[in-house]
Amino acid sequence: MGAQIIDGKAISSAIRQQIKQQVMELQQKTGKSPGLAVVLVGEDPASQIYVRNKEKACQEVGIYSEVYRLPQETSQQQLLDLVHQLNERQEINGILVQLPLPDHLDEMTVLRDISPDKDVDGFHAVNAGKLLNGEKGFVPCTPKGIITLIKSTNVDIKGKDAVVVGRSNIVGKPVSILLLNENATVTICHSKTADLKSHTQRADILVVATGKPNLITGDMVKPGSVVIDVGTTRVEGKLTGDVHFASAKEVAGWITPVPGGVGPMTITMLLQNTVEAAVSQWKL
Ligand code: NDP
Repeated sequence: MGAQIIDGKAISSAIRQQIKQQVMELQQKTGKSPGLAVVLVGEDPASQIYVRNKEKACQEVGIYSEVYRLPQETSQQQLLDLVHQLNERQEINGILVQLPLPDHLDEMTVLRDISPDKDVDGFHAVNAGKLLNGEKGFVPCTPKGIITLIKSTNVDIKGKDAVVVGRSNIVGKPVSILLLNENATVTICHSKTADLKSHTQRADILVVATGKPNLITGDMVKPGSVVIDVGTTRVEGKLTGDVHFASAKEVAGWITPVPGGVGPMTITMLLQNTVEAAVSQWKL
């Protein structure tokens, strides 16, 4: 038997088709395309790939995009000046500053200066606060993609025991709040959690975002559960998840592969947030 695979690639591609259609309808209605500005500072190779993929994904669905590649030595003020300009530009609906920034730049200050209405990454404190309050705002892309993948299984989240391993601001914390807003009973585990296994074994829904390859093995998984593996670490050149796939697959009911699970959803949710930003700014 073994778990059913949650095919993030296929789900993502179906959603991108819907977005493409929606963008076309918006163009017909308004004569405009939603616009995304992506800002990259420095030479980080992984960030360069992410930014290129975002640019390509925008093109594919008809979203207008601008990419700003700034040199490593860009000052905090220069970066803030660009963000302020983008905040004012009508044709830009979403702004994304690719993280991590070089050490001499203060991420929190930069993120706080992005207009919350254009914060399609959902990292601004206003959007984080809205998420906490259950108000409508921009939801960070990876957590939003995770919830979409869980829902694709048709497992009802309400009343389920959900365990999230990892408490980062970009994955663990927001996905925990989203699961809580969906009426799951949520436990958040982290590196100081005593007896991790006792928690994960009870999880009807298990989300793992630690960056520790193969941390979760089959014996730590509840039979029939939904297992979402967020981790992406290169081990001997191979992209490796936080869940030991072969053993967990024998126990779980549904499981995401790495690669091809959560990864493809993240950019798709960015496209979705950019369209949402345009619709809201154009007051449609
Ligand atoms: P962080 O390093 O910011 O956070 C990791 C979290 O895992 C921390 O809360 C840490 O606990 C916890 N942790 C570490 N070791 C253990 C352990 N042994 N037991 C329990 N908890 C542990 O990582 P991110 O949240 O940014 O990313 C996590 C993973 O997800 C990475 O592999 C990253 O590459 C991947 N990722 C993938 C994305 C995608 O699109 N596919 C997008 C974003 C991330 P503590 O707080 O106590 O230190």
